Amino acid sequence: MRTELAASIPDAGADTPLAQTLAADTRRRINLSGRMLPKPPTTRVLTVANQKGGVGKTTTAVNVAAALAQSGLSVLVVDLDPQGNASTALGVDHHAEVPSVYDALVDGRALAEVVVECANVPNLRVVPATIDLAGAEIELVSMVARETRLDRALQTYLANHETDYVLIDCPPSLGLLTINAFVAGKEVFIPIQCEYYALEGLSQLLKNIELIRSHLNPTLHVSTILLTMYDGRTRLSSQVADEVRTHFPEQVLRTSVPRSVRVSEAPSFGETVMTYDAASSGALAYLEAASELAQRGAESS
Ligand code: ADP
Ligand code: MG
Repeated sequence: MRTELAASIPDAGADTPLAQTLAADTRRRINLSGRMLPKPPTTRVLTVANQKGGVGKTTTAVNVAAALAQSGLSVLVVDLDPQGNASTALGVDHHAEVPSVYDALVDGRALAEVVVECANVPNLRVVPATIDLAGAEIELVSMVARETRLDRALQTYLANHETDYVLIDCPPSLGLLTINAFVAGKEVFIPIQCEYYALEGLSQLLKNIELIRSHLNPTLHVSTILLTMYDGRTRLSSQVADEVRTHFPEQVLRTSVPRSVRVSEAPSFGETVMTYDAASSGALAYLEAASELAQRGAESS
């Protein structure tokens, strides 16, 4: 039925690129919207990491999380960046006094006590980050089990709260916060911005993942890579995309996320693009990415 409906949309002539895009978007929307995604056999914990700032980590974490939740899955986002951008994008209060991931990491407070619901998206919960977290990087250094504190907190939480996906939004560094995320997750999800130097620094990230794997978390691996801020009009974007796909054929999702004003506007309204403008090309791309992620998880099990 969906397939027929999608096929019934007429092809636009090659000389009308805008109409072509609209027709393609409409087909994609019909195929995707309201579709339920398969539940993974066990909770999948994905650490969204890249030590570069501004590559789309937070945008990817919150939008993929929202898309999974809208598709019937139960999702938890852990904001592990002192900037609290993921908390902002999910419309969750994160001023200094709010109970947050800091309390769980540093004071050993139960995650269940700091988790809040995302008001705009059912099935989506958030562990907010406040500016306190900036100090945690240093406070953790002298603590017992400093690398495994998030893992312990998360395992305790997951034992009592049914959750299909956990997405951990990391800061742009490879310090103790990110290490905690690598120990807590099995899968690393790397957003790569389609720009010059996209692959620069990636080897450092992969080296660190290897170190964590050999010392702290033998199950850790890069499962997913998403190309973000793709601009189809530039050769650079497609060259970078080709290069990343050549290096990581198994991990790169087929969908890439286009550069889109709607995506960047959404956080200032305390929303993900999934609710801010569900019909936009950015929202569709994130819905497709979430769908691929969920299908792959269902196949590999
Ligand atoms: P990071 O968490 O890696 O630092 P962000 O997700 O905060 O990166 O993204 C950096 C900036 O780029 C933000 O202002 C964000 O709104 C913007 N951005 C991210 N993805 C897109 C996109 N697909 N189109 C347009 N702007 C984007
Ligand atoms: Mg961020």
